[in-house]
Formats: sequence, C-alpha cells, structure tokens
Amino acid sequence: MTQSAPKIPLSKPLIGEAEEELVIRVLRSGRLARGPVTRTFETNLARYVGMKHGLAVCNGTAALHLALLAHGIKPGDKVITTPFTFVASANCILYTGARPVFVDIDRQTYNIDPEKIGEAIDRDTKAILPVHVFGIPCDMKPIMELCEDHHLTLIEDACEALGATYDDKAVGSFSTSCFSFYPNKPVTTGEGGMLLTNSDDVAARVDALRNQGRLGGEWLSHELLGYNYRLSDILAAVGIAQLRRIKSILRRRQEVADTYSRHLQGTNVRTPLITEGRSWFAYVVEVEKRDDVAKKMNERRIECKPYFPPVHLQPPYRSLGFKEGEFPVCEEVSRRVLALPFYSQMSRTEVRFVVSQLKRCL
Ligand SMILES: *Cc1c(COP(=O)(O)O)cnc(C)c1O
Repeated sequence: MTQSAPKIPLSKPLIGEAEEELVIRVLRSGRLARGPVTRTFETNLARYVGMKHGLAVCNGTAALHLALLAHGIKPGDKVITTPFTFVASANCILYTGARPVFVDIDRQTYNIDPEKIGEAIDRDTKAILPVHVFGIPCDMKPIMELCEDHHLTLIEDACEALGATYDDKAVGSFSTSCFSFYPNKPVTTGEGGMLLTNSDDVAARVDALRNQGRLGGEWLSHELLGYNYRLSDILAAVGIAQLRRIKSILRRRQEVADTYSRHLQGTNVRTPLITEGRSWFAYVVEVEKRDDVAKKMNERRIECKPYFPPVHLQPPYRSLGFKEGEFPVCEEVSRRVLALPFYSQMSRTEVRFVVSQLKRCL
C-alpha cells in the first residue's frame, strides 16, 4: 500500500526562519502552555479580523464545538448548515447532541443558498452555521436577516476564509466565528484553531470550556463539564510569525490562482469563481469524468482531491437517515469538483506543469 510521495503535493505550508526563531524562544522560555505567547497570538488574530476576543484552541473543530456549546446549543436543538463542506462543520453539531439540518448550496458560490434557508427553519431551530467554503464569502446579508427575524444564533465557520471580506468587512467578524490552522490552511500552526467573539459572556464560557471547565480560575474547581482544547505556546509562536506575513501569503495565493485561471482558459475545465472579497484556500475546478481525471493525475504524482464529497452521504449521516437526492445541487457539484495542487510558494513553472498534465488527463 505504500505509494511514492507526490511530485507536486496538494498543499504545502510556508514556514521560514521567523517561525523557527519564535518557536525556539518559547522552548527556551520554559513557558510552553497558557503563557503570554498564546495571548499575543489571540490578540493579533482578533485585531486582524476586527473582533473583541480571540480564544486559541487545539484545532478548528474544537473551536466549532465550543462555539455551539458557549451559545447554548443542546440536545434537541436544530442547527442549519451546508452539506458541501469539510465534515467537521456538521460533526460539531452532533457533538452537542443537536441535529444538523442541511440546506442545499448555490451553484455558483458553492455556499449555503440563503433563499432555501427559510423553509428549513422550525420551532427547534436555534442556529445557522454558514461555511465560507474555499475562501468564498457567504452572502451574509440575507443570512443575518433570517437570524434576526427568527432569533437564531449565527456562527461562521471561517476555517477556510482567513483574509476574505464581505461588504468590505472581514469574514469572521459578522458573529462568533471559527478559524483553523491545519497545515493545508493559508496560515498554519501545525494543528490549531481560534474562536473569535464580541461577547464577553461567550468568551468567558469558551475560556472555561477549553480549560477543563474552570470558570473561577481555581485549578481544581471545575464548574462546567469542560475539555482540554488548549493550544500550546509553542504552536502559538508559529501562528504569530505566520500572521506577520499574512499580506504576502494572501497576495501569493492570489497570484497562483490567477496563473492557473490564465493557463486554463480555452479548456473545458470550469475554473473557480472569482468574486469580490474571496481569499484562496484551495484552487478547485470542475471537470467531466472527475474520478478518471483524478486517478490519472495522481498516477502522474500530482496530488488532486475531490473536495468535497457531500457530508450528508458520509456513513454517520446516512445512519441518521440522510440519503442521495436530498441536496441535488451539492451532489452534482461534488461529482465534478477537483482540487488541484495549491500553496503559497507554488511557482509559475509548477502551475504550468500541473495544467499541461491536466490537459492530457482530460
Ligand atoms: C479545516 C476545516 C475545519 C476544521 O479544522 P481542523 O483544524 O482541521 O479541526 C472545519 N471546517 C472547515 C470548513 C475546514 O476547512
């Protein structure tokens, strides 16, 4: 089953001496957890996005889980989200005992279709969890209006959308929001996540929940059923260095995406949506006979993945009763999408090589 490593991987973190230096400084300081470095990372990200509180956690999934808990989502509640996302966006709902209610996506943006949300809301609906998929901002205005009209909590899954904007406002600043720093994300800490909120109350609850339920500060008083979802200062140091060069990371990714789109002109590959305010998590195209193309590309050691298969057709969701045909737009998109190699330091030569190979595989 061993396969040779891809010649061109799907993604690659951009790590340099700045990251190394800050990590070494933390290692030598002796303060590896719950220290000032984590606090600085939190402050810096919160300021970048324009939010009052940042709470670092061990990954983006944990941030989503705590966002729902801190907003009081509990067994019996329903939370509306999209079936076209990474599975964690829906799993976090199941962790709380609430029920995910999927709403089909918009064919152009791949994001939850605001026009279809209304009919999915009922008495048990407590929250809407939109996902800015691939860095494409959701249409927040109608979603926020629905939340207001029906007194619903809004939680943004912005794990793929650091740097994106909607109406000139940062994605992740419209509500309590979650970010991920997994190595395939534009800003990485290896593993890591952050919850941002403007609510003092939510921040206090998340702070306790991530730290074994300690509300008062006493080390052995556990007022809530908490978790250990903390982030290490060693990893927060990486995040600080990454955030310092976010501008250049975002600019490079834009350039790689532009190069791809230029070279794919005139082929029957559907290139990604260029839309106001998007940032680039992945470069995802649509092709006919996607599985064949993916197989041929991977045989050529160019790593490509079918981002995303529908969440509602994953086994844990099928066993809840979800089935094929329920969300036809998502299912059609899922059959056609293919994520191509994409990373900040990808050269024009690499992009041209991927495109030339892709043309042969079509
Ligand atoms: C990456 C990602 C997550 C989860 O982040 P982890 O840090 O891997 O736990 C959640 N939602 C979306 C949309 C993601 O892309």
